[in-house]
Amino acid sequence: MKAIDSLSAFHQWSIDDREGFWGEQASLIHWHKPFTKVLDYSKPPFARWFVGGETNLCYNCIDRHLATQADKPALIHVSSETNSERILSFRELHKEVMRMAAIMQQLGVGRGDRVLLYMPMIPEAAIAMYACARIGAIHSVVFGGFAALSLASRIDDASPKLIISADAGSRGGKVVPYKPALDEAIERSEHKPTHVLMVDRKLAEFTRIEGRDVDYAAMRLKHINAEVPVTWLESNEVSYTLYTSGTTGKPKGVQRDVGGYAVALAASMKYIYCGKAGETYFSSSDIGWVVGHSYIIYGPLLAGMATLMYEGLPICPDAGILWQLVERFKVTVMFSAPTAIRVLKKQDPAWLTKYDTSSLRALFLAGEPLDEPTAKWISEGLGRPIIDNYWQTETGWPILTVAHGVEKTPSKFGSPGMPMYGYDVRLLDIETGEEVGTNQKGVVAIVPPLPPGCLQTVWGDDKRFVSTYFSSVPGKLVYSTFDWGIRDEEGYTFILGRTDDVINVAGHRLGTREIEESVSSHPAVAECAVVGVADQLKGQVAIAFAVLKDTAKGESRAEREALEKEMLALVDKQLGAVARPARVYIITALPKTRSGKVLRRSIQALCEGRDLGDLTTIEDPQVLRQIEAAMRP
Ligand code: AMP
Repeated sequence: MKAIDSLSAFHQWSIDDREGFWGEQASLIHWHKPFTKVLDYSKPPFARWFVGGETNLCYNCIDRHLATQADKPALIHVSSETNSERILSFRELHKEVMRMAAIMQQLGVGRGDRVLLYMPMIPEAAIAMYACARIGAIHSVVFGGFAALSLASRIDDASPKLIISADAGSRGGKVVPYKPALDEAIERSEHKPTHVLMVDRKLAEFTRIEGRDVDYAAMRLKHINAEVPVTWLESNEVSYTLYTSGTTGKPKGVQRDVGGYAVALAASMKYIYCGKAGETYFSSSDIGWVVGHSYIIYGPLLAGMATLMYEGLPICPDAGILWQLVERFKVTVMFSAPTAIRVLKKQDPAWLTKYDTSSLRALFLAGEPLDEPTAKWISEGLGRPIIDNYWQTETGWPILTVAHGVEKTPSKFGSPGMPMYGYDVRLLDIETGEEVGTNQKGVVAIVPPLPPGCLQTVWGDDKRFVSTYFSSVPGKLVYSTFDWGIRDEEGYTFILGRTDDVINVAGHRLGTREIEESVSSHPAVAECAVVGVADQLKGQVAIAFAVLKDTAKGESRAEREALEKEMLALVDKQLGAVARPARVYIITALPKTRSGKVLRRSIQALCEGRDLGDLTTIEDPQVLRQIEAAMRP
């Protein structure tokens, strides 16, 4: 490989000579059949990487390491919820994955079929993902915190042959049953899966539907000696879809390939995370999010590392649990979210030094803005380097950060860093599409082709892929991240927040539109607006403003409180607690422009005590005053 020790030169090479650059990175993984073309960009903005090459994610994560480290840990599972621990070596994981793959095959799942996972953080969830990858089935993991309605829309979009679930998850010692929500979702959805494979953790009783529901433990025994060969897939076949929120109520299925994703992750393990075979990687995320896919399931094992999968909160049984795990498993690379650190910041700082965390090369934080006080607190408390990552579900791996595997560029608090190799990042004026100057605010955009690992398209909707992501900057075919950014003289980019109505609560991306639809489904509600409001702990929280059909119904405080409770319960039931607004204020009217557009930005500014900006377009300025009054304690 070319030896380049400057990040900017490395980046330049990746943009000037995409095929040469990625052609070299491709040797980081195993190819069953070599590709004939590194990049096919004949139909912009659709990029096809490593055309004609055949590979397999499961093979690269597991089988490939059997010759050299079969008995080393591959999957370390710790649950502080059930007080359990399980360590699977590469050899054991290989066996379990083949058993799961055999079960799937018996249930009729084959190449290209969708398997939807609605699961807590248990080893079987990881095993199921690798098993899908092994046989070429497409997994679609739905975060366990989502409820029936969210799940139903994802079932309809993915149309899975099989759903894999479990009796329950657990959060802070409280059992969260999964089966009732799943049954309700399947009842609501138009598409019906042929089978539901149930992992019974014996946490919650559940009803079984004859002929449809299948018991995992019994099936596993049946296939205990299964040997399921790898299905070699063309690089551009689909590995998975993962739903993410946007500005419409309908979630988008981010679709990813096989070969490009494998190469991108392997390269990131080398240049960004600097993990080595035989070491342990610990990402405290959930498999329901993109970080879970890239850096719990695939990335670490691609590099021959063990992955530590943790079910539990960062403060249970105590605020030292994460660092205790680092010490016990000699974690060298750790990945978490700023919210988790802000939760820890409220605890005794002595927890940070109680355990030996010297094995940690760096702690990576991503998913939401990393504020300077939090970054300083954790970096000083741990005495380990903190590295901010900026990326999205769509990209699958970091867009902006520093790459210590290329050059030891210093970090700047408040900035994730520089554009990563492969990403031609520009800051553009949203009106003119022209590049903005140093220290000027612009939309963070990426000139296509997007590098390997990024979404191929929106599942089942190529048009939406183009119209959503490539049509918002006038006159230019560029990918919009929908984030504002600013670049300083030294080339560090700072992220300033979203350009759209997507909000980020505790690192979870939520569409305000989905929450609005849920609140509006309450029979008493005429219309509703949801905005994201700055919050010290969660980054942002959702606040809802609802106008009643019969305004007289919300006149007394008791009536308003009762209605608010009902609406919150409705969101919990439909979307899940993750989407629950912090408050629902009952008001008499929403502020709108003369053309009828709800002025969400003004409501947001009001909630955050900021200047309300230009109000010349507002139809009735009195409405904002009424909202202010409603929010007074
Ligand atoms: P998701 O697709 O759920 O990972 O959300 C992606 C969005 O989260 C981005 O578009 C940003 O708005 C935000 N985000 C992620 N990482 C960072 C970061 N390091 N700094 C600032 N914002 C971030």
